[in-house]
Amino acid sequence: MTLARSVRNLRSLDRRFRQARMLGRAIKSSHHPILAHIIPIRRCNLSCAYCNEYDKVSSPVPIAEMLRRVDLLAALGTGIITFSGGEPLLHPELDEIIRRIRSHGIIATLITNGYLLTPERIQQLNRAGLEHLQISIDNVQPDDVSKKSLKVLDKKLQWLAEHAWFDVNINSVLGAGVRNPADALTITRRALELGFDTTVGIIHDHSGQLRPLEGEERSVYQQIQSERKPAFWAFAYDNLFHKNLALGQSNEWQCRAGSRYLYICEDGLVHYCSQQRGYPAIPLEKYTSEDLEREYWTRKPCAPYCTISCVHRVAMIDLVREKPRQALARFFPPGQAGTPAKLPLGIRFLSSIFLTPENGRPQNPAAKAMAGAVMRVLGIK
Ligand code: SF4
Ligand code: SF4
Repeated sequence: MTLARSVRNLRSLDRRFRQARMLGRAIKSSHHPILAHIIPIRRCNLSCAYCNEYDKVSSPVPIAEMLRRVDLLAALGTGIITFSGGEPLLHPELDEIIRRIRSHGIIATLITNGYLLTPERIQQLNRAGLEHLQISIDNVQPDDVSKKSLKVLDKKLQWLAEHAWFDVNINSVLGAGVRNPADALTITRRALELGFDTTVGIIHDHSGQLRPLEGEERSVYQQIQSERKPAFWAFAYDNLFHKNLALGQSNEWQCRAGSRYLYICEDGLVHYCSQQRGYPAIPLEKYTSEDLEREYWTRKPCAPYCTISCVHRVAMIDLVREKPRQALARFFPPGQAGTPAKLPLGIRFLSSIFLTPENGRPQNPAAKAMAGAVMRVLGIK
């Protein structure tokens, strides 16, 4: 095991504890954003044919303004801030912004195309306190649709494996515009070999909507799912959202964009998400708890076929908060209809201490005391 991987594993323990605290706080209260995507620069060094989120001319948002936006998100109680773009690594003072995020106790994460990563740049990100990085890789060989290719990026992945202290997730994609579906499997296998987490995204069209997977795409998707062995939250996500999307079927869910998830564009306006810019488009400094409350309940007509996975994941937390037993039943559906759901041991334990019994009896005092102790350790009581 490399030194970086050992450091990464050690830091992962601290990160998981902080994530558990963030999750506990999000389950306890719905009155703050769980996740905000923030755009430090709209410019990108690539030009993926399917992308509507970049330009070739924008300057970086001035550092003072970026720091002010981070402070405003902290004041709203945001749990995670993720840099998106454009290509965030084109911002010359990104590390200072990461430090400001961490100074508020907020989790700092980055979505990048990876082109600008070098061993030195990775070490700078380590020192700044970055906690998670995601690269989405579209194909094995570059083509006229996308140059986010394993062939070009493999050296960067090796450097990440050797030097990164933060968690790395490699996202492969299936769906609209992907010429060789089998590439997603090659990319997933390479990421697993290097010790990274993996996800597979179903590409949305220009309005954030779904095109169902067909033939080879669907069998590649199933093979990936059988090889990547997702952990609890990713497994639950697959059951709740992804399986339907892969079949081209709609999802019944409440999108909490504008409330639990915020998208802050380069002009400092709050939007629902990257695909629904223009709503509500209120300046971040004027965004109040009334806005958060209104958007928590606003029905978004684009929700049934939405493929924006980070907003789905945020909605899962509120489903647990509002209807915990129903959420667990949907996360871990029974293998066959009519049989009880098979919950993992850890989830059964947590259910037994946190949920009141189904038979309506009062909760056992020992379980109640243990739940209180866990909440105190996590700092949410
Ligand atoms: S790298 Fe990302 S932001 Fe840049 S053009 Fe491609 S998809 Fe868009
Ligand atoms: S459902 Fe929500 S996250 Fe999805 S496209 Fe619509 S506003 Fe964006």
